[in-house]
Parts: sequence; C-alpha cells; structure tokens
Amino acid sequence: MKYYRFKQEGRMNCDVRVFATRDLYNQIEKTALKQLFNAASLPGVVGVIGLPDIHQGYGLPIGGVMCSSLKKGVISPGAVGFDINCGVRLLVAGLRLEDIIDKLDDIMSGLKNEIPAGLGVNSTLTFTDQQFERVVEEGLPFLITRLGYGQTIDIAACEENGHLKGADLTGVSKKAINRGKKQLGTLGSGNHFLEIQVIDKVYNHNSGLEEGQISIMIHTGSRGFGHQIAEDYINIAKKRAKKYNFDFPTKNLASFPINSPEGEDYYRAMACAANFAFANRQILTHFVRQVINHFIPGTFITVYYDLAHNICKKEIHQINGKKKALLVHRKGATKLSPDGIALVPGSMGTDSYIVRPKNQEALKAAFESVSHGAGRKMGRRQARKKLSYREHLKSLGEVRVTSATNDNLLDESPLAYKDISEVIRSLKETGLAEPVVRLKPLAVLKG
Ligand code: 5GP
Ligand code: MN
Ligand code: MN
Repeated sequence: MKYYRFKQEGRMNCDVRVFATRDLYNQIEKTALKQLFNAASLPGVVGVIGLPDIHQGYGLPIGGVMCSSLKKGVISPGAVGFDINCGVRLLVAGLRLEDIIDKLDDIMSGLKNEIPAGLGVNSTLTFTDQQFERVVEEGLPFLITRLGYGQTIDIAACEENGHLKGADLTGVSKKAINRGKKQLGTLGSGNHFLEIQVIDKVYNHNSGLEEGQISIMIHTGSRGFGHQIAEDYINIAKKRAKKYNFDFPTKNLASFPINSPEGEDYYRAMACAANFAFANRQILTHFVRQVINHFIPGTFITVYYDLAHNICKKEIHQINGKKKALLVHRKGATKLSPDGIALVPGSMGTDSYIVRPKNQEALKAAFESVSHGAGRKMGRRQARKKLSYREHLKSLGEVRVTSATNDNLLDESPLAYKDISEVIRSLKETGLAEPVVRLKPLAVLKG
C-alpha cells in the first residue's frame, strides 16, 4: 500500500490521500490537489482521495472521491458533476477475431447508422411520459422486462443491478424531462464512444474470457437529462448557500446539507439520472446486438459488466477503524468492490483493462475506488492546438476510427491521454488493483 498523505490542516476536516506512482504524482496539476483540499473542507466530509488518473475538474477533480457523513455531511451536485452516471459497459461476444475481421467495416457503418451520436443529437426511439417515468425511477428491471430492451440476465451484470434506489421524478424539472425523453438511446459526443475490441491478454483465468475473443465497450452517460439536473441543482445550491450558512471553498463545490429538503431532492433526481444512464447503455447494447446479428446471425452477446464513474452512493466504509455510513461521491472514479472487478479504458488507440483488487487494505483506504480510465494529459483546447493530425493518425496505428460528426478528433487523440500502462502500473504499485484482462481496440465509433 502506497499513497501520498496530506495531513488535515487549516479548514480541512480530514486527511487527503493521493494514490499514484512518483511519475504520475509529479504530473498532477497543483489546481487538482487544491480541489481535493477544498473538498476536505466541506462540512461533514470525512474522507477525500485522489486516484492515479487525477486531473482538474469542475469542483471535484476527475479521479477524485469525496465521502461525507450520512448524518451530518453534505451532498454536492458539483462533486458528482454534469454527466451523472457517465459510465462504461463491457459486452462480450461469442465471436473470435477471425469471425469478425472481414465484416468489421460493415458492422461499424451499421452501428454508425443505427446509433444517434453527436452533441445534442436526438434518439430514434419514443417513450410515453409514463414509460419514461418508470425507466428513470425503476431502471433496468423495467426497461428490460417491460419494454423488452435485452434479457433479464443483463441486469445482474450491472453495478446496483442497473437500478439506483430512491429515484423520484418529482424533483426533476420539466426542462430536464423534455431533454431526457428525446435523448434516451443516444451515444452523445466527444469522449463518448463505442469500441470493438479483441481480448489480447488474459492474466487471470477465472475471468471466463479467452484471448482472441471479441468484446465491445460502451462509454456514455445521462446526456442532456443528467446535465440539466446537475445544472438545476448547482444553481439551487448556490442560491441556498446563505440559508445554510455555507461558505463554499469554491463555488463549484456547491452543496446541500445531506438531510435538507434540497439535498434529499437532489439525491432523488440524481438517482433518476443514474437510472437513465444505465438504461441508455442498455439500449445501445440492444442496437449492438441487432447490428452484429444482422451481419453475423446467431451471435450471442452478453453484458460482462457496467459501472458508473460520476455518481454518489450510500455505502459503509471504515473511518479511523470504525464502520460508518457515508455518501461516497465519485467523480471520474469507479467503485471496485473487495470481490469485484472494474473497467479501465485507455484511449481510442491504446489498450483498456479489466482489473480486480490487489491489496485489500489499500482498496479500503481508497474507499473501494479505482481509476476510471487513463485520464487526460492535455485539455481539449490544448490538444487541438498542440497536436498535428499526422502525429494523431500515427498514434492510432491500425485502429479504425469513425466519428459520428466527421470531426478530426484531435482532442480525443491517444496523445491527449495519459499512458494507460503507467496508470495500470500505478494501480498495481499502490496496491489498489491488478489487471485481469487486457483489451485491444480494433474499431471505434466516437460521438
Ligand atoms: P471521461 O471522459 O468520462 O472522464 O473518461 C473516460 C476515459 O475513457 C478516459 O479517461 C480515457 O482514458 C478513456 N477513453 C477516452 N476515449 C476512449 C476511446 O475511444 N476508447 C477507449 N478504450 N478509451 C477511451
Ligand atoms: Mn460522459
Ligand atoms: Mn465518462
């Protein structure tokens, strides 16, 4: 177990721990560290950590975890962020590389035609008001068993069984609902992607996966629905700051007392957005099954895992040796249960990984959290300015990349992300996790 520890001082209510190798630690921006110290200064916050892919975000850094006491802590829409339950899903197909390689281009065009992608692009599906309400309140069990998008075995493969409890649409604005209804079943833009991969290396044979097998990774979240909910509640939090006597360390960490009416409303609305995102990834899975089966009939595609990386959840963890009920905010960070796995995507030109816990003590100290990806090395604007298209194409190697918007994708270039092997090494060295399977990209559809 290895981490950098910043002792509680000044306004901070707890220590801050940063899990990283020296190399990655030296790359961390001062501003991202400052954001962790700010998070530790919020009332009732009892644990704050930074993960190996940490970089500056809105309020809480990406790769940041903030735990607050369920009794007297805060709930922070700023710390959860704008794309509520943005997350990653891994599908595994009953296909090997040689079964698909000749049809890859056709499948990618099929997926591009079938799956709406791009900024603000609308869904091809329609949902009645009542169906929408039940999807966001009841999550995958309703979407699958009542609306027919998939199979019941898909449910158990998802974090929280694809249903975050406590969701209630009453605290969600009309504007959010209208945006959401139009976008359920869309990929989104920018960093969101759908990638066909081949299982390149199996480190642990309990995974049930084989080298040469085909997997599909989906990265998307709650689209305009979650974004609007985040915006609505961040605005309310800023307005109520006086009422609750909050002196936010930074305005972007806007928060409510956890048991205030506004805090409870936010939790219920946030849970709706979380369920929307699980449903969104499930509908995209449905499209993937249709398209691949169109070109290769009889292909069985299972959901291997699905997990969130922008969310807050009620969990029990140890604080100073005592079990405590906490609200864990994870921003660009994923949950890794002691007996579970997590997905760590790299970039459109590099490998991705499935990982499992390495050292249980280290994992506990990180509130059962690991990196959600390689993390950005350059901001979007910086990448567009600094990178040449030639360098970018070279970095893709043989990976076939399609953009829904015909964008040049320089801001999503592998060169704009940290080195995934360094992040995995960091996870191993800090004891948080070790690789189970390595996945190599073959073709990527970008939003
Ligand atoms: P987010 O953008 O949600 O913060 O992070 C998602 C993570 O996915 C990034 O940190 C990055 O490492 C990874 N990533 C971004 N684009 C791609 C892609 O096209 N393919 C894969 N496999 N990973 C990606
Ligand atoms: Mn997202
Ligand atoms: Mn994401």
